[in-house]
Amino acid sequence: MAIQQKIAMFPGSFDPFTKGHLDIVNRGSLIFDKLIIAIGNNTAKQRYFPIEVMKQKIELTTRQNPRIAVEIFEGLTSNFAKEVGANFLLRGLRNTTDFEYENTIAQVNNYLNEGLETVFLITNPEYAYISSTIVREIHRYGGNVGKFLPYQL
Ligand code: ADP
Repeated sequence: MAIQQKIAMFPGSFDPFTKGHLDIVNRGSLIFDKLIIAIGNNTAKQRYFPIEVMKQKIELTTRQNPRIAVEIFEGLTSNFAKEVGANFLLRGLRNTTDFEYENTIAQVNNYLNEGLETVFLITNPEYAYISSTIVREIHRYGGNVGKFLPYQL
């Protein structure tokens, strides 16, 4: 019997991709054979950082790791996982608020795509306070966000 590759997808808005996200990606790439960072394009929602720019920044940041790929998708996460052949979803957990939300999402995704398992990694405390929302707010008002991002804007 052929050994099935463990392919995971790390879905998110990544508006912007932060050092917290990178930490989950790096740790996830030690668990899975392949990790696809999937940037969700919600056409009903206006982004702050253009999606193509963010894709390039993430590619640049992860280019040394051959297990990692970056894709943009529209629509349901569970459908895109099927499309790329991912049998796992990877998500990060910072706190109980994340847990409440992620719990529901993971169950729904498993309902929509049977067998799709969501795997959670607990955030490194060094990055637990970083959120894309906070980074956007600081950037909007001219603050320096360099410390939170693994690349230069
Ligand atoms: P979404 O809009 O789908 O919540 P995000 O881009 O905000 O997407 O986050 C994607 C994933 O990264 C989520 O699982 C989130 O919990 C996780 N994440 C966000 N910030 C951090 C952080 N600082 N450390 C670890 N994981 C994080």
